[in-house]
Amino acid sequence: MHEISVLKKAVDLAEEAAAENGVDKIAYITLEVGELSGYLPIFFEKYFEIVIEDRPIFDGAELRIIRPRGEGLCLDCYAMYNIMEHEGACPKCGSRNKKVLGGQQFALKDIGFIEMTE
Ligand SMILES: [Zn+2]
Repeated sequence: MHEISVLKKAVDLAEEAAAENGVDKIAYITLEVGELSGYLPIFFEKYFEIVIEDRPIFDGAELRIIRPRGEGLCLDCYAMYNIMEHEGACPKCGSRNKKVLGGQQFALKDIGFIEMTE
């Protein structure tokens, strides 16, 4: 499972960012998982609780996932279409000749810090 190692990496990054900012509580992290990234959100959801176990800074933290669509532009008829839904082939002309316009990204997009006021 690739998901558990990239999830661990994202959680590590969030933890480092929190330490740098002097924050001791994280409310949520947002992952951007493109449809064409090869990662399945269901695994991130499944592993999140396991990965944050024994990391008190993440106590009660929430995992948010943004799923950018895998859009393609047909280079033969210039139709725009969803690559996942149409299995990589243009629904208008059947061509697989395309430019991928998005959906390949995987990133730690946002970290929700809880500021502690004294
Ligand atoms: Zn086409």
